[in-house]
Amino acid sequence: MKREDCIFCKLANGEIPANTIYEDEDFRVILDANPASEGHALILPKEHYANIYELDDTVASKVFPLARKLACVMTKTLGCDGFNILQNNGEVAGQTVFHFHMHLIPRYKKAPNNQGFLLWKERGLSPEEIGTICEKLTRQMQ
Ligand code: 5GP
Ligand code: ZN
Repeated sequence: MKREDCIFCKLANGEIPANTIYEDEDFRVILDANPASEGHALILPKEHYANIYELDDTVASKVFPLARKLACVMTKTLGCDGFNILQNNGEVAGQTVFHFHMHLIPRYKKAPNNQGFLLWKERGLSPEEIGTICEKLTRQMQ
């Protein structure tokens, strides 16, 4: 399904022009309009899923192989020194466009904005607290 009010639906389906680097029947991969680095790209499914919770399993199973292929090609082509793959779900997690997308972010040793980029502060949980979380999650996964 596509959503009329979703800019990524329009970009993914070619209704709004974008810098497309790859397209197939399920996805369009475009360059981010406000890139964090040279080559920062977004994998957009052509169907609308707001986030990973809504994502179809078949589409999900195709996302990582595509991300891997792009990471290899982009690294070779752009000569980056590393690569981040990032996917935000929900406002608190930094999602600003509510159509599932995966960020492909080439990283360069010499980039001016490397300091503090994509870092978080350690939460400082005790081994007991981590153990309690582990038990809770393990139970639900059975
Ligand atoms: P989020 O914060 O939701 O994970 O990421 C949204 C990303 O989409 C941001 O990096 C932002 O720069 C990018 N973006 C937002 N609107 C547009 C647009 O119209 N075109 C392109 N190419 N990127 C966009
Ligand atoms: Zn959409």
